[in-house]
Amino acid sequence: MTFDKETLQTLLNLPDIAVDRVVLGERKTLKVYVHSTLEGTNCHRCGRPIDHEYGHGQEIELRHLPLFAYTVVLILRPKRYQCHFCEGRPTTSQTLSWYTRRSRVTKAFEQQMLLELINSTLEDVSRKHAIGVDALQGILDRNMACDVDWNAIERLEVIGIDEIALKKGHRDFVVVISAYINETLHVIGLLGDRTKASVQEFFLSIPKRLRRTVQSVCSDLYQGFIGAAKAVFGKRVHICADRFHVAKLYRNGLENLRKSEWKRLCHILSEEERKSFKNVHWLLRQRRADLNADERRMLNRLFRYSPKLQEAYEACESLTAIYESRLSKGQGKRKLRGWMERVTNRKLSCFDSFLGTLNTHFEEVTNYFIGRHTSGFVEGLNNKIKVIKRRCYGITNLGHLYQRICLDLNGYDRFGVDTL
Ligand SMILES: [Zn+2]
Repeated sequence: MTFDKETLQTLLNLPDIAVDRVVLGERKTLKVYVHSTLEGTNCHRCGRPIDHEYGHGQEIELRHLPLFAYTVVLILRPKRYQCHFCEGRPTTSQTLSWYTRRSRVTKAFEQQMLLELINSTLEDVSRKHAIGVDALQGILDRNMACDVDWNAIERLEVIGIDEIALKKGHRDFVVVISAYINETLHVIGLLGDRTKASVQEFFLSIPKRLRRTVQSVCSDLYQGFIGAAKAVFGKRVHICADRFHVAKLYRNGLENLRKSEWKRLCHILSEEERKSFKNVHWLLRQRRADLNADERRMLNRLFRYSPKLQEAYEACESLTAIYESRLSKGQGKRKLRGWMERVTNRKLSCFDSFLGTLNTHFEEVTNYFIGRHTSGFVEGLNNKIKVIKRRCYGITNLGHLYQRICLDLNGYDRFGVDTL
């Protein structure tokens, strides 16, 4: 097979090289032998430009983007230069702009692999592209930092703090701290434990100039998070309870009532009737507006057997409606107090523990109405992280987890087609 060197050179689209020859290797591999057309380099010791030629280094193989399903490997002997400024005249191998020293792949190939890794796993990409897992991790390490670069951030404004379980069923938590920066969601910190002390330490690690730009901290009702935020940011910053965590708490109240009511009904209902309520527990978790006619009928049938459950369900619906309406903090407070009163008057004891939480954290819960834009932000992140969590069980290294979260969140912006 013969190759037109010039065409190939155009297709490779890499600066400072010329193609010498092309060999068709095993397993559909195109081995492209190239040489550098660039003169000189910088001394690795003193950094000065040097151009005293000193032969060539060892042949290196660099994997490049595939061509018509052929694996492309570039083979190059880097030029070497000697420094006449430094003692002992040390030599330096020339490194061209399209690869990183010691890397076995070109930068274009790295970018391609990073794109492939978005929403995927090392193992998957490794198999699809016949590249080792360690090599892929090396690519991640060269391109993705393991923690936040504060210098790249101008303002923080709203910080979200949440925790995820790393392994199913384990009490192995990672605290995720996030912020919207230039309208894009970024993870700014991952912590190995959720004690007040370590959250506080993280907040204090934010440079002062950025700490001053924080307007609110959105968190669940965990005392450690709230305490740390209060200690570092003081009264100037609104600490608001994330509405989805709050919703979980009142939904739990309803769920507990459902369980006890179902136990009671099991003694009353025939087996056939019991079967006719299949998946009714799932319906109770939905908003009425999201149910179809059949589902609503089933729910109403259940409520005829248990008016208490209906009251509790409607209490949840009305609380969600309060959250949905555009209220000022003052209005939100009044509505919420009214809700608490109604629930207490109707003796809906399933919400007792939730009412306790509301009383303790009334300020944080109603701060939601000041900066309600914060809710979508934690929700959006939760959904993303749920996916990462499912995929990345087994990543226990916080730095690696940080790389993967950043890649999923911001990878298309950084490595997508537009930036190629
Ligand atoms: Zn030198």
